[in-house]
Amino acid sequence: MTITTLGSGSSGNGYVLQNETEALIIECGVNYKHAVGALKGNVSKVNGCLVTHSHGDHAGFIKQYAKAFNVYATKGTLEECGIQANTFHYCTTPLFKEFKVGNFVVKAFDTEHDTQEPCGFIIYHEEMGTMLFITDTHHIRYKFNFPINHVFIECNHTDGLVDKSVENGVIPYKVGVRAKATHMSLERCINCLNACDLSKTKNIVLIHISDNNGNSNMFKNKVEMATGKPVYIATKGLVLDLL
Ligand SMILES: [Zn+2]
Ligand SMILES: [Zn+2]
Repeated sequence: MTITTLGSGSSGNGYVLQNETEALIIECGVNYKHAVGALKGNVSKVNGCLVTHSHGDHAGFIKQYAKAFNVYATKGTLEECGIQANTFHYCTTPLFKEFKVGNFVVKAFDTEHDTQEPCGFIIYHEEMGTMLFITDTHHIRYKFNFPINHVFIECNHTDGLVDKSVENGVIPYKVGVRAKATHMSLERCINCLNACDLSKTKNIVLIHISDNNGNSNMFKNKVEMATGKPVYIATKGLVLDLL
């Protein structure tokens, strides 16, 4: 199983999990044609697409994707996207209840963001084990105390870097306040990871790093030091083997 990052951050998010015969897409915040490219045109193997929340950088192309296959999101997300739940290819994702998308077993949990019913996902497939997918959340209220093989987690900013961006006039004050209140800082990312069972974790991928208030290299080093695990930055085009 591999995962391809189509995009990560406020300009558009998308990830394609795939093997020879099956695929699962996470987020539809980049144009569908990029997903088709990562799939080398083999769209018939896609079992579905999971969406965390309604913001455009995650759900902006939801209608494109839903033309091709089932899209799974919470009722709140679908409503905010102006879509009636459980119509055509739109499936309502229950929270804390496992559901199957092909051979992928998925469970959604609630996150803390400024949209209706945002969520993260625990995704299991026998070829890759368990993956945790967390983005666009102030913090995570849960401890994932079962072995997690792969972690995709938002590491958006530090408060210090946000303050600097505001001071330097790079972002308005209000944007800085919102970033701190709705996205995961390096500190809270590390706290969340430390509350997880990482004994079987093979890789940690930092996603949704802020262009203005983030520092990829510093975040990678800090998370590596805190966890002792290999850490990657989700950049456009990154392909990782999830063995
Ligand atoms: Zn986002
Ligand atoms: Zn968002």
